[in-house]
Amino acid sequence: MNQPQPTLVADIAACRNDFPALNQDVNGHSLVYLDSAASAQQPLAVIEAVARYQNDDHANVHRGVHTLSHRATELYEGARDKLRKFVNAASRAEIVLTSGTTESINLVAQSYCRPTLRSGDQILITWLEHHSNIVPWQLVCEQTGAELIVAPINDRGEIELDELYALMTGPVKLLSLSHVSNALGTVNPLREIIDRAKKAGITVLIDGAQGVPHMTVDVQALDCDFYAFSGHKMFGPTGTGVLWGREALLEEMPPYKGGGDMILEVSFDNTVFNDLPYKFEAGTPNISGTIGLGAAVDYLQSVGMDNISEHEKALHEYLVDKLAGVNGIRLIGTARNQASVQSFMLNDIHPHDLGTIVDHQGIAIRTGHHCAMPVMQRFGLSGTARASLGLYNNTDDVDRLILALEKARQIFA
Ligand code: PMP
Repeated sequence: MNQPQPTLVADIAACRNDFPALNQDVNGHSLVYLDSAASAQQPLAVIEAVARYQNDDHANVHRGVHTLSHRATELYEGARDKLRKFVNAASRAEIVLTSGTTESINLVAQSYCRPTLRSGDQILITWLEHHSNIVPWQLVCEQTGAELIVAPINDRGEIELDELYALMTGPVKLLSLSHVSNALGTVNPLREIIDRAKKAGITVLIDGAQGVPHMTVDVQALDCDFYAFSGHKMFGPTGTGVLWGREALLEEMPPYKGGGDMILEVSFDNTVFNDLPYKFEAGTPNISGTIGLGAAVDYLQSVGMDNISEHEKALHEYLVDKLAGVNGIRLIGTARNQASVQSFMLNDIHPHDLGTIVDHQGIAIRTGHHCAMPVMQRFGLSGTARASLGLYNNTDDVDRLILALEKARQIFA
């Protein structure tokens, strides 16, 4: 019987050709890449932007009077401007370039929380979080005597909002939660949560690692205080990322690392720190990667974030439908608002075995705890298999996964 086909955004199908890595055979089969939540493939435009810089413009930024240094600076700072517009930050001073979400969150933990938190204060997170949004807070709690408290999730993988709100009391100084869960795909109702936190006088950080690649993000409309994201999940190079922060907060925060570029003047008696955002950018940055990230922003905007969201939503529905037809599948994460990530178990097959069998058929999925061990513990599992979709995936990719899962089921029958 023919399954109904989802309505996908027509122009998106052609985007697949923009990604050279997708055009290869793996283990004798054409590659099906379903691991974009871990790291997305890069379009040729990004690869070429990095190569052009490496070929023609490579020099250090901000330091030289020579032409190559000017060119490199222009490209690097141009990427910051693109990122500012991409998330609608009020000013370029608010775009701190980091090595990724992990560094962005650590920066806030060490520069915002460490100097201000005291014993008796609390940091509030949720059970949905990636280790990057847990461990930096544990470290700073250890350093300051503050306490880390955690809001629960329900069986669908949604935050229990009433319980989250009940935890928003006087001692809570910071709430940090994900935009989208990498393990379960849950899209959190940020506007409502942020409103409640603001009313309680709580500063809010959003871990946007899985948000920015899939939907329009407007930090001013969200009204959060910090928003962290990574380049490699949004079709840019690894080792790049952003901490967006409100200028007034960033102004008050001491530098996170010391070194070149983050100063205006240094003597042994006194050092004057540089202006924002450079105060937080010590040392030679990832120049080529950031230029590539700027090209990734151009690419995402040329496809259109609304088109990407629409395409991925339709494809995710198709995936869930098809998975439901496989005997022995148990979906992990069934939130009412879910983005392009689906975790699942197949009978009692160990996720790593499943991942290996489908890899033999050219299909890349992620297996394990997805750096979200508490989420796994919540569902009584040590890990899951996870398929995550990007703008370049299509129904054929999903059909290939389903066939491979059927094969795995038979092998383990
Ligand atoms: N938060 C979430 C929700 C993530 O998915 C990831 C990456 N898997 C991170 C944080 C960490 O990102 P990075 O490793 O790029 O710093």
